[in-house]
Amino acid sequence: MARTSASFSRLPHLPQTYCTLFALKNRSALRSAALFGIAPRMNSKLRYFLRSAMLMASPSRRACPNCAGSGRIVSRKYVVTALRRCNECALLYRTPTDRPDEAERFYNESYEQGTAMDLPSPAELEVMKAQQFGAMNNDYTKFSEFLRELEVPKGGRLFEYGCSWGYGSWVFTQHGYDVKSYEIARDRREYGVHHLGVNLTNDFERFVNENAGTFDAFFSSHVLEHVPSPSAIIDAALKLLKPGGVLLSVVPNGSDSWRRADPESWRQLWGMVHPNFIDELYLTRALGSVSSIIWAWPASIDDDALAHLNTGAAGTQLLGALDRYELFVAARKPH
Ligand SMILES: [Zn+2]
Repeated sequence: MARTSASFSRLPHLPQTYCTLFALKNRSALRSAALFGIAPRMNSKLRYFLRSAMLMASPSRRACPNCAGSGRIVSRKYVVTALRRCNECALLYRTPTDRPDEAERFYNESYEQGTAMDLPSPAELEVMKAQQFGAMNNDYTKFSEFLRELEVPKGGRLFEYGCSWGYGSWVFTQHGYDVKSYEIARDRREYGVHHLGVNLTNDFERFVNENAGTFDAFFSSHVLEHVPSPSAIIDAALKLLKPGGVLLSVVPNGSDSWRRADPESWRQLWGMVHPNFIDELYLTRALGSVSSIIWAWPASIDDDALAHLNTGAAGTQLLGALDRYELFVAARKPH
């Protein structure tokens, strides 16, 4: 993986980049996450602070949301919140944790605020479609090309978990994949269905059970850091995939390499909006016997790394440079 930095394009300083990227997917959540500024932002942050202060002493709010294990503190923020590393599953998670019903309410209420401004008008959408949504930081054409490098066949079945308003699923479809998608936020999935023809399931668990072993690829972008149990999603992905199918996921980078490279930007990536902070230690544990490659995105991947997905020993991870703000993992389900 020594050559992974060869084609890196320089990203703008993180706060802006991160904000832009996240805003394009979930602008209202970004608004909720902002520190101070207009009143709604402050109210949201203040509520988070007060709630954290009330719950910080509760032992149940210090347990890992992924496996209920205990964790040790690796970073603190605003006195009342901490980032912990689970001793069992190695996930980095923010405490006090959210109950699942609180998390669901956050995505179905907070994410829907200001929707009229967030989603493109029909005229804006036509311009974006003509550009294959290439102006988005999260470039699905690049992901599509990478899927092709991983030999996911044209016409292959691809599942996108957390498709927001569907632009990524639309681009994947344009690149010849047979796409099925899931999204938790009601307004976004309705927009995707009506404006971009996104093919959705509203019952992920049932869909996985009824379609186990039938997908060529499973993709998620900036989702695992939000869900109560990222391991449940990874396990579902591996269940949904055929033998030889590939799991791809991109997340904010929780790795120590990125922390050392830009401590302040790293620190901004965990907190209210991102209750989990995904890194290579957690992914290695979560993927179990599945071999994978993990590196900072975007970067070109050399042939040796690609070969590792096909021939790497069970459970081995090949790590590339990890010192940028997005972390990417590719794993191939064993044949
Ligand atoms: Zn855990």
